[in-house]
Amino acid sequence: MYKVTLIPGDGIGPEISEAVQNVFAAAGAPVTWEICYAGQAGIVQFNDPLPEQTLASIRRNKVALKGPLTTQVGEGYRSINVSLRKTFDLYCNLRPVKSLPGIKTRYPEGVDLVVFRENTEDLYSGAEHRMGSYAAAGLKIITEDASRRIAQAAFEYATAHGRKKVTAVHKANIMKLTDGLFLSCAREVAKKFPDIHYDEVIIDNLCMQLVIQPQKYDVLLAPNLYGDIISDLCAGLVGGLGVVPGANIGTECAIFEAVHGTAPDIAGRNIANPAAMLMSGGMMLDYLGEKVVANRIRAALEKVLADGEVQTPDLGGKATTSDMAAAIIANLK
Ligand code: NAD
Repeated sequence: MYKVTLIPGDGIGPEISEAVQNVFAAAGAPVTWEICYAGQAGIVQFNDPLPEQTLASIRRNKVALKGPLTTQVGEGYRSINVSLRKTFDLYCNLRPVKSLPGIKTRYPEGVDLVVFRENTEDLYSGAEHRMGSYAAAGLKIITEDASRRIAQAAFEYATAHGRKKVTAVHKANIMKLTDGLFLSCAREVAKKFPDIHYDEVIIDNLCMQLVIQPQKYDVLLAPNLYGDIISDLCAGLVGGLGVVPGANIGTECAIFEAVHGTAPDIAGRNIANPAAMLMSGGMMLDYLGEKVVANRIRAALEKVLADGEVQTPDLGGKATTSDMAAAIIANLK
């Protein structure tokens, strides 16, 4: 049995976490959960958005599955998601984006790409300051070490998973020093992987290309902010945020979480799609070496999606979160 920290999170987090726990239990996944709180739930429980108990649990277990956490816009405490990634040096944010059976999209030929997003620096450094009363500035920090290790992770993944191409995403025509450094590190790492084709694309062009012909891309390697934005764009190509999982991986710990946020517009109504968090749980099982049970869970989910009878409203259906969990459980082989 693996002991794993489970942070149900805010908004839709508790609903989808319950669905994931039920599917894991029915599948016999060898996991016991240590439930911890953060974000708004951390404030409610411990008057702290990132309680020491939660940090200690992740430190102990080294693996966590996390629901989304609320971050206020333009005010309030700093993002707990960013803090967790920095605290545990989870430098690699890996987000596979793949068309699934039964989900209608604008791309009948299918999309299958992976976003590698640097997770610890760039404009997420939090180094912002006011300049008098009429201006504010934020520091975009790009370092060689962080750029090299995310590039290394992307190329190693491409090699291990039979991917053919890594595309570095940048705006180095304008940000010549910061994005320029990111690119020069990517180029240097690319030389060590002659079997993987390497190319580069400017972020604005990439957005257009992704919408017109996403099949052109295989592995996208991006600094933090571009990686965050294109992840949501890519989710839109395959059916939305309800179906794209993710992992934050470091050398010591890993935290698995969906790309989506707390979805306050649908929270508390039992209609959130649990698939993205369940698939993140599947990535976690892969990471733990439990591929057989992970594949069983994925197969059951894909069967439910392909049948098309039990789908949540984001996918055009009328099912609830719990209906979907029950249908996945019924399809576990
Ligand atoms: P969001 O991802 O929460 O929602 C965007 C849209 O997608 C909404 O219409 C929502 O209903 C829909 N959606 C998202 N997940 C869904 C699901 N599983 N099933 C069905 N529909 C789903 O983004 P937002 O509204 O910009 O952000 C809301 C809050 O979430 C903010 O506080 C933000 O800071 C936070 N956030 C947290 C994380 C995280 O914890 N990793 C990530 C992104 C946003």
